[in-house]
Amino acid sequence: MPGSERTAVVVEDDDDIRELITHSLTMQGFEVAAAASGQAGLDLVMANDPDLVTLDLGLPDLDGIEVCRRVRDVSQAYVVMISARTDEIDRLMGLEIGADDYLTKPFSPRELQARVNAMFRRPRAVRSSTDVAPSGSNGSAPTAAATPAPPPAGEQDAALLTHGRIAVDAEARVVTVDGREAELTRTEFDLLTTLLSAPRRVWSRAVLLDSLWGPGWSEEHLVEVHVGNLRRKLARLGPAGGRAPIRTVRGVGYRMEEPDAF
Ligand code: CA
Repeated sequence: MPGSERTAVVVEDDDDIRELITHSLTMQGFEVAAAASGQAGLDLVMANDPDLVTLDLGLPDLDGIEVCRRVRDVSQAYVVMISARTDEIDRLMGLEIGADDYLTKPFSPRELQARVNAMFRRPRAVRSSTDVAPSGSNGSAPTAAATPAPPPAGEQDAALLTHGRIAVDAEARVVTVDGREAELTRTEFDLLTTLLSAPRRVWSRAVLLDSLWGPGWSEEHLVEVHVGNLRRKLARLGPAGGRAPIRTVRGVGYRMEEPDAF
């Protein structure tokens, strides 16, 4: 049933919860395929190329984290990780497994629907497969280690946002640091572009939560964890020992730092 229909793969070994999620997403207009194990779920992802994957952390065969990583390798789907434990979710976010959102059991169908709606309101990645294909297929000398050329000054593409070493191609949804691509999740990408949209502004956690997930959420610690991951990923590509230019404004939220620092 391909076509314009949105498709989802539900991976959950608990029969009741799998039914609940399947029903909930079907009501939301998804064509749903469900699996009770990690391997069966991966097979469905390969076969269906879904727009959305919900993934239980505790599966009988494979670790949910491993399944998530493998889904990420082959799919651009939105991934929602589901776990019974809040502390487990905090740990998962720290592992940068590439999920787009996290839900704690028990959750209501309405809560799941709201999360899914919020994710799908954000722009989808439009990277073509050639953008992510490994380079160097032409057999020429490796160029990955070469120093990237600095972007020409004063020649700003409309869709290109720069801040020091960081360049954001909003259209392709690609972020680079010194020309090297940062592997950001959608949430991290949206967070960065939001901060950069008004770099001198102090963004409160509540406002960021609102702009990224839509109104009605109060889990401000989610913002902290995503900011932490974003900082780490940016810093990793920057100069040794450098800090990503996102400053914590105590008791309030975050703002971009002057780009000369990074
Ligand atoms: Ca389970």
